[in-house]
Amino acid sequence: MPTHAEACRPPDLDQPPAGGGHAPQGFADVWNAGIGGFLLELAGGSIYRARMDNLDHRQRPDSVNLSRDALQVPHVTADGREDNAAEWVAALLRTSGPARKALYMSADRVRRERMGDGVFLRGIVEFSNICGRDCHYCGIRSSNRDVRRYRMDADEILAVAKNMVGWKQTTIVLQSGEAASPEGDRRLGDLIRRIKAETDLSVTMSVGNRPRDVYSHWRDCGMDRYLLRFETSDPALFAQIHPACTLGERLECLHILRSLGVQVGSGFMIGVPGETPEVLAANILLCRNLDLDMIGIGPFIPHPCTPLGKTANAYAADPEMHFVALAALRLANPDAHIPATTAFDAVFTNPSGRDLALQRGANVFMPNSTPGQYRKDYMLYPDKPCVDENGALCAFCIVGRLEMLGRQIGTGPGHSRKRGDRGVPASPIAPAAAGSGRP
Ligand code: SAH
Repeated sequence: MPTHAEACRPPDLDQPPAGGGHAPQGFADVWNAGIGGFLLELAGGSIYRARMDNLDHRQRPDSVNLSRDALQVPHVTADGREDNAAEWVAALLRTSGPARKALYMSADRVRRERMGDGVFLRGIVEFSNICGRDCHYCGIRSSNRDVRRYRMDADEILAVAKNMVGWKQTTIVLQSGEAASPEGDRRLGDLIRRIKAETDLSVTMSVGNRPRDVYSHWRDCGMDRYLLRFETSDPALFAQIHPACTLGERLECLHILRSLGVQVGSGFMIGVPGETPEVLAANILLCRNLDLDMIGIGPFIPHPCTPLGKTANAYAADPEMHFVALAALRLANPDAHIPATTAFDAVFTNPSGRDLALQRGANVFMPNSTPGQYRKDYMLYPDKPCVDENGALCAFCIVGRLEMLGRQIGTGPGHSRKRGDRGVPASPIAPAAAGSGRP
């Protein structure tokens, strides 16, 4: 493994994909749309049941109550401000001992009442790991020369998209490193058009910061949603871990997307080194203040080939804090789509972190639909799950998970609950002057 000083050669953003083309996906190749859904229902449950034991949804800590502080939902003043929101979230995050179970149950109840029992499946296709950014936490950062760089071509991505329909995934999430180029961005627009023309899928893009004209072009091509995490609401911490990018620029991107009528998803990593409980509370409040349609949060996991590789998660001594954060996020954002993100599975096994997340506020699952041969090259962090599997197996697995949890696959496009079918903006996202979660 190179040292950080050695590992400084950025990849060529327009290099041809290594190992691209149309390598077969094996099982996925024979998984056509018709038979796929049927087999999923028939066999997914029993396969997964064999892997599960000890789910905590059977536990009923009815006797445990949250402290009175934690139940003080924000008080809205006559001029529309929430005057105790920060204290409220801070109190939720201070929950300890058996009261955490009650917090989880509250989050689960709010999720059920506001979002229902359906779990929307949004298949993620990690179509390229070519990246021009050098984020201090990310395994595919440009200066990590241990990474074999790849980019899937449009036909290959489209073939996956067509499989996803049979896998009951109603949204395709196209994620990659940040590799802006006029030619690449034009090709992405063409890809969005083809997916919208040839499937019924909703299209979510997750490819980083871009100027307004690029987002606007993708919106015109049919892009429904965009995911761009703000990572941390603390401007100084953001600057420390993101060379050549500010929190203000990131939030300005979210603002532009909202103004274009695109459904906006953002979120943060939990436990970035240097994060204090106050910053965590501000992260949750920033999600609330941005009035996000989707919110993805997940544990920070140190990647050995990054500058933060030897620095532990801020909650290493109390990993349950990741679920406390998730439950508080749900209470503070009752109507947002919240995924059970993959990083929860890297930290918690048996029961799996993602299953627990679905019981503690989450209502969305993002099965990995990336063809198997690329997965080991998209290691944002170590111990990423499902690296030896493929799209069909991950599609299979989620059916069993949901059966065990007593939940169903969500039907329909899974658009925002807040803004109607194409995410017509209701309220502006404030540009980021403050960058804090303060109302
Ligand atoms: N280029 C896209 C996708 C980035 S990767 C973009 O900029 O939005 C997707 C997410 O993975 C990031 O937003 C970050 O929150 C998360 N991630 C990256 N490295 C991580 C790590 N070491 N631990 C946990 N999450 C990580």
